[in-house]
Amino acid sequence: MSQPTPVTPIDAAPSEVTDRLDTQRVGIDDDLARRLADACDAVSVLDADRAEAGRDWWPLAIGWAAGGSVPSRPALVARPTDTAQVSAVLALCNDARVPVTPAGGRSGVCGASIPLFGGVALDLCGLAGIGDVDDASLVADLRAGTFGPDVEAGLRNDHGLTLGHWPQSMDLSTVGGWLACRGAGQYSNRYGKIEDMVLGLEVVLADGRVVRTGGHGPRSATGPDLTQLFVGSEGTLGVITEGRFRVHPVPSGEGRRAFGFASFADGLDACRRILRRGATPAVLRLYDTTESRRSFDEVDTNVLIVLDEADPGLVDATLAIVDQECSGADVLDLAHVDRWLTHRNDVSALAPLWRSGVVVDTVEVSARWAALPGLYTAVLGALADVPGTLVASSHQSHAYTDGACLYFTFAGRPPEEVASGDPADRDGWISAYYRRAWDEVTRATISAGGAISHHHGIGLNRGRFLADGLGASFAVLASMKDALDPHGILNPGKLGLDSPFGPVAWP
Ligand SMILES: Cc1cc2nc3c(=O)[nH]c(=O)nc-3n(C[C@H](O)[C@H](O)[C@H](O)COP(=O)(O)OP(=O)(O)OC[C@H]3O[C@@H](n4cnc5c(N)ncnc54)[C@H](O)[C@@H]3O)c2cc1C
Repeated sequence: MSQPTPVTPIDAAPSEVTDRLDTQRVGIDDDLARRLADACDAVSVLDADRAEAGRDWWPLAIGWAAGGSVPSRPALVARPTDTAQVSAVLALCNDARVPVTPAGGRSGVCGASIPLFGGVALDLCGLAGIGDVDDASLVADLRAGTFGPDVEAGLRNDHGLTLGHWPQSMDLSTVGGWLACRGAGQYSNRYGKIEDMVLGLEVVLADGRVVRTGGHGPRSATGPDLTQLFVGSEGTLGVITEGRFRVHPVPSGEGRRAFGFASFADGLDACRRILRRGATPAVLRLYDTTESRRSFDEVDTNVLIVLDEADPGLVDATLAIVDQECSGADVLDLAHVDRWLTHRNDVSALAPLWRSGVVVDTVEVSARWAALPGLYTAVLGALADVPGTLVASSHQSHAYTDGACLYFTFAGRPPEEVASGDPADRDGWISAYYRRAWDEVTRATISAGGAISHHHGIGLNRGRFLADGLGASFAVLASMKDALDPHGILNPGKLGLDSPFGPVAWP
């Protein structure tokens, strides 16, 4: 069974680790702990297990780990290995009004799997493996705790199939986490996002009932799409134990291109025209000049990386359209595509930067094509105006006929007198800078009519924005939460929803 990969060590002995977030924590009494141990294959109250379950890849917590803290620890970690055990754990916790926070790879970058109010951390990595595969219909069942490499190895080696979902966090994340966050892989232009791939779900509700949604046939008119109700719910509406997915034969054709555009807006427009003509090259990534210099050593150009995989006839037709729509751009060395492939999942610089006092994070948003050039300029300008910003940059990572995802990266550092002064002042500066940077990007996105997240989700970090991001329909989400989880035990304090366990603390 694969296990989560922590972002950085916690610099404290397990018994010395402290909680950084100031929330009210729910404990587990001996009787409940015993009944949970009877209900599920393994439970742990070890300090080391509780400390790891108290954090994910939320960048703000990297600096805290260097100080021996995690955001918030659970009282107990439960490790079920099948749906019946998940059901039994939830029924017990629902009766006892104990919060339950589902977790997969804990690779989320918004603090979504942090057990804010203690209680039980529900580690789903034990529900792993590939279930039924229907080759004729290209449908496969995948258990929620299966990590990315195991999904692809199982489908490819045993069936000659692929899911086509390649997030940068492939090695770090699970099927359940992809679904719960509405994840996107790097090849999403051809295969879709996870919400396009999923056909049905098995879900355990807060009171322990097990339900199945969708998955009976291609399309249906059987009321609203209940599968999509749980996709993106980030563990607040139910626990996903299995998904049914659209899969594809492993493609035999592949093609690559690289271009340089004079401006980011020119490159965006070429992407728009390519999608508009019905071409969907798996990878179509446009980097601004800052990122083109950093990633490809190209000066004064905006690099577009194109890679497609499919039936060879389809690849040829797709690249013919790409070539026509990029005819005004400079043709660049295909070594850029190799370089992207080699380094695309390398995030080894992240933790060392935080540990050296540099604040780094990424924000992914989406908007329609007409809004994107203005959004790009507005966000970079707003970030540059936040005192302490060292650099801000962007690339376009996922494209559609109606718009695209812009992925911003920013870095900042406290002024020298703060950095070398009282550690409490430095921490305060970092929290304030981080919050302001996120506020600025989100405000600009909402002003442009865009979506405040494209694939990382909301979690804790973006909770304060969701009511504004959704407008009046936020009340519909809150009503669904009340109906499906009346005691509010499932992942309380996330998605900006009210928590019965107390207010959400911001560091
Ligand atoms: C280096 C790096 C690169 C990344 N690149 C990408 C990328 O390219 N594309 C992308 O989409 N994301 C990316 N992410 C973000 C993250 O990997 C995804 O959000 C991923 O889908 C989370 O999966 P996980 O298994 O780690 O879930 P976790 O982090 O454990 O959980 C995330 C949320 O899902 C809920 N959850 C988890 N499992 C279940 C379940 N079975 N049922 C109900 N709720 C559940 C949790 O409660 C939590 O709210 C990246 C993260 C990192 C650190």
